[in-house]
Order: sequence, then structure tokens, then C-alpha cells
Amino acid sequence: MKISVKFCPNCGSMNIKWVNPQMWSIWRCWDCGYQGAVVVEDREIADAIRKNYLNKIENEGNGSSEDK
Ligand SMILES: [Zn+2]
Repeated sequence: MKISVKFCPNCGSMNIKWVNPQMWSIWRCWDCGYQGAVVVEDREIADAIRKNYLNKIENEGNGSSEDK
């Protein structure tokens, strides 16, 4: 049996869910706030995205929602 896991294309998180079961083509990531129809289903790609993303937010400093 094959389990299909979905990952966020922006941050590689598995923490994505349908915005609305009636609008099942739109996904939302609860980690980074991504919203859209594109999801990654390949674990290796997701891993690479995740590393990239963590790198990026590290370089931008901590405090993701701070303006100053
Ligand atoms: Zn995400």
C-alpha cells in the first residue's frame, strides 16, 4: 500500500492541510503560511526545500513576523 504524503513547496513542512474540504485543491501550510494548489509529494525534494528554508530563515535572523 502506498501512502501519499504531501509537503509544503515553500518550506518542506508536512504540516499542510486543505483550507476547506470543499475547496480541496487549495492547500495551506500551517508552518509558513503558504497557500496554493501546488504541493510536493517527494520526500527527497521536500527535504531539500526544508533545508533551504531553514537556512534562509536563519540568515534573516529570528523573529519571523517582526517588522523592525
Ligand atoms: Zn510551508
